[in-house]
Amino acid sequence: MLKKGASGGIYIHPWDITDEGIDRCFATLGDVCGLNELFLAAAYHANTFVLPRNPRHPVRWDEGSVFLTAQHPSWRGTCLRPIPGDNVDTSGYLANIVDAARRRDWGVLFFVVFHFSHSLARAYPGACCVDAFGERQRACLCPANPDVRGYDLALVDELLETYGGDGIRHESLGYGRWNYGAVIGSADPTPSPRDQFLLGLCFCGSCLHRAREAGLDPLPLRRAVCESVAANLARHPEAWDMGPADAEWAGNALAGQLWPYLEVRCDTVTSLYQEVQARTAKTGAALMPFGPQPARDVLYGLDTRPLHPQLKRVSVGVRGADPAAREANLRADIATAPGWAEPEIMHNQRGFARLDDLREQVELARRLGVRHHSFHYYGLSRLHQLQWIGQLRDAWQ
Ligand SMILES: [Zn+2]
Repeated sequence: MLKKGASGGIYIHPWDITDEGIDRCFATLGDVCGLNELFLAAAYHANTFVLPRNPRHPVRWDEGSVFLTAQHPSWRGTCLRPIPGDNVDTSGYLANIVDAARRRDWGVLFFVVFHFSHSLARAYPGACCVDAFGERQRACLCPANPDVRGYDLALVDELLETYGGDGIRHESLGYGRWNYGAVIGSADPTPSPRDQFLLGLCFCGSCLHRAREAGLDPLPLRRAVCESVAANLARHPEAWDMGPADAEWAGNALAGQLWPYLEVRCDTVTSLYQEVQARTAKTGAALMPFGPQPARDVLYGLDTRPLHPQLKRVSVGVRGADPAAREANLRADIATAPGWAEPEIMHNQRGFARLDDLREQVELARRLGVRHHSFHYYGLSRLHQLQWIGQLRDAWQ
């Protein structure tokens, strides 16, 4: 059950726990950092990780992995299967970590990157997003695809029912941006912001089907996207329209055909979130994070209004150029949070040069009533940054 009242958590990759040894790693988290909650990466995207204290892999390459093996009956609902990381050495790998955390009475939430996965995209090319020209986006699965949605739900069921997690922290549960996960990190030339947005639209069979179900004919839009992007790419970049891909532009773009398609995409993603939230609620767990104010954001592609009534925590953040602005913004965030959800905040200890700067942020949040604090990835942190966390433990204890 999700910890109420107060908690101190940290994001952590399973390999950092098992490379160091579960007991030794957890002793550091408990004794040095004073923490009592894990945000355990259960499915993570491709990256090259630099891990300053890791005794076995100071550098680790990963192409996108899930840190478990498929066991739950819900996997029958999809042809996709999780692709285990090379550190997953037995079927009990994740259970050993979770059981050790529970023996310490720690909370366990699973951090799950759903659709942004180079390895899944390679294994299941038919599940990828497809641009208007028919090119597959080889790092992002499409949330309209029934097998992808089945994969999402099976993964949630596996984590919450097989391992008994307190919640799911989601990333990439909707559509990916066009340039998300480009093969060498970037494209040259980089298309204009509006062309990037258009290239990020998915026209796979599942998306076309959903548009038609909503009464649209998506093919004229797809042609218009191709013509618009191709015409721009043929011009010198100095002649490109470099205006922002904002709601005002999208509402009028391509003779008004774009916006209705975006509405369908928004509904596609929102209904998936609702299904995931229903699965989490069934076990008493929580789906997170969400900000304090619900909104339908068609451009981004998610309506958080139907999700807010079931939130258990809302995420607030510190922003502003000076202390007075930071306090005013945080106070405003907390004031607009729904009364049934507790505010939580994540601090990136690696973003601060000095303990006193991190202390200012942690103590501000504590003073305004935030008692759920979490910190950025354990394996990416240096020892002194972990010691800072322990020195600030009064914020949640
Ligand atoms: Zn699609």
